[in-house]
Amino acid sequence: MRLAVPSISKTGPCALCGRHVARLSRHHLVPRSEGGREVVGLCAACHQTLHAFFSNRTLSSELNTLDALRQQPEITRYLRWVSRQPDRRIIVRARKDRR
Ligand SMILES: [Zn+2]
Ligand SMILES: [Zn+2]
Repeated sequence: MRLAVPSISKTGPCALCGRHVARLSRHHLVPRSEGGREVVGLCAACHQTLHAFFSNRTLSSELNTLDALRQQPEITRYLRWVSRQPDRRIIVRARKDRR
């Protein structure tokens, strides 16, 4: 049986920051290993940031919608910053206070 996964184009607006980027990557809001099917297209910076700030456990149990993610103060601050950045490589370091 094949699961219906929404098709994500490779270029376009990022689901989180809304910037148009040359390459979107697929983020599972709930990990596939936990039966998640919903996939969003994120730019590399947003995708790395999510995983730098939050563990998969936190992402799947608490932050499994885009709205929930946007309400995190860390993400709100990040989005304000990244909206002013051009589409270029952004280095994201894993945070010590990752939760
Ligand atoms: Zn983004
Ligand atoms: Zn991801």
